[in-house]
Amino acid sequence: MTDHSPAQPGETLLILGAGLVGSAAAVTFARRGFKVTLMDRDLPGSGASHGNAGGIVPSASPLAQPGLPFDVPKMLFDPLGPLSLKPVQAIKSFPWFLRFLKECSAARAEDNSIALYALTRDAAPAWKELVRGTPAESLLRDVGWLKVYSSDEGFRNHAPERDFLKRRGAPLELLSQDELRRMEPNLAKFFVRAMWQPDGLFVRNPRRLCEIMAETARELGAAILQEQATDLAVQPDGRVVVTTDRAIHRPDRVMICAGAYSKRFAKQLGAAPMLVAERGYHAMFDVPEKGLERPVFWVENSMVLCPMEHGMRLTTQSEFTDIDAPPDFRRLERLVAEAGRMLPGLDTTIRDRWMGRRPSTPDSLPYLGPAPATPRAFFNFGHNHLGLTLSAVSARRAADAWMDAWTGRNDHSSHDLSKYRALR
Ligand SMILES: Cc1cc2nc3c(=O)[nH]c(=O)nc-3n(C[C@H](O)[C@H](O)[C@H](O)COP(=O)(O)OP(=O)(O)OC[C@H]3O[C@@H](n4cnc5c(N)ncnc54)[C@H](O)[C@@H]3O)c2cc1C
Repeated sequence: MTDHSPAQPGETLLILGAGLVGSAAAVTFARRGFKVTLMDRDLPGSGASHGNAGGIVPSASPLAQPGLPFDVPKMLFDPLGPLSLKPVQAIKSFPWFLRFLKECSAARAEDNSIALYALTRDAAPAWKELVRGTPAESLLRDVGWLKVYSSDEGFRNHAPERDFLKRRGAPLELLSQDELRRMEPNLAKFFVRAMWQPDGLFVRNPRRLCEIMAETARELGAAILQEQATDLAVQPDGRVVVTTDRAIHRPDRVMICAGAYSKRFAKQLGAAPMLVAERGYHAMFDVPEKGLERPVFWVENSMVLCPMEHGMRLTTQSEFTDIDAPPDFRRLERLVAEAGRMLPGLDTTIRDRWMGRRPSTPDSLPYLGPAPATPRAFFNFGHNHLGLTLSAVSARRAADAWMDAWTGRNDHSSHDLSKYRALR
């Protein structure tokens, strides 16, 4: 018979996937007294967590929103545009796109915005708490999140994002051209407006953050294993046996944090999540003499320039194609010249290029909650464009809910994860 006892200190917990989501969970659960195993087929931080833009962003704007379906055809034909979709992928992922369209209704978008902000508003404090006392403290910078517009039309067209934030009560400042110049004096002068979220944070090296989190978990007693999970099997008592390329593991509990690769494991645990790999790219340049204080998101081009500790990073693009298709760097390379326009003096010789897979859901919300097949497995994946932002707060919410869920103490509103449930 399935054992419904609450998750409790002293139990063994296997976390599958050592990206930012899994590594943050490893520290959180190890601090709460669990015997954690953090498993990845690769080194910690090798997946999507390696090369993102470093923004911890209090977002309230789901990707699916009214009006977007009308903009998509234009985006698809724009060679510099942020979106590329291979026709074969549109067919293969048809249910995902259909669901995405459904989420574009005003009512659904509003619900998703509320649920998204309920997590992202706590993201920065959760990260600060998680890194306290670790070497990762120096990686976090309190510089907010800055979006710039190169035209009044662009500013007007993106009003819905600001409206979502305003309705959620999120701190937000609109900057004039002069105010923007004072904030980022080296940025090109053609940006006419800006939006600044003062409560955002910037991580100067997300890969290193992930490595430090994994190392912190290890210091707290966690085992870090480099193994590839191949199969999960739910036992009659609800425990999950995890088979890998090297061993068979029988932990008390399992958490799925395999990012864009989580779907097959979720299926073995009773769910059919709407999850696709939304691929994004980055290019690295040398640190310029006159750089930036913070990441800057150029809204019209949907690109971010990020002053990482080891170089200037350009991130961009939403590419829907086969998860394991070879990278196609052409769109990224076309945008390199735009990076040079954005920050005059930037040497746009590409030092390094990268592609990563965002684990994306049609409603922009993660899957966070117990697996349908057994309360001894927990989903923690599908963090879309905000996996760095949401890792620490997801880990905290998962621990609160899982440890309380079957004790009868589940009356605390912050433990309500129904918006992020597996079957939705
Ligand atoms: C260009 C770009 C820019 C971005 N910018 C931002 C940003 O500024 N802010 C933000 O919050 N988010 C951003 N994101 C999104 C963010 O990077 C992701 O949401 C996040 O990294 C997802 O983390 P994860 O741990 O779920 O996945 P991953 O980092 O992909 O980790 C999953 C891990 O699971 C492992 N795994 C998979 N299958 C198996 C298996 N069978 N056995 C063992 N291990 C397995 C993988 O090896 C991998 O290490 C960006 C993403 C991209 C691509």
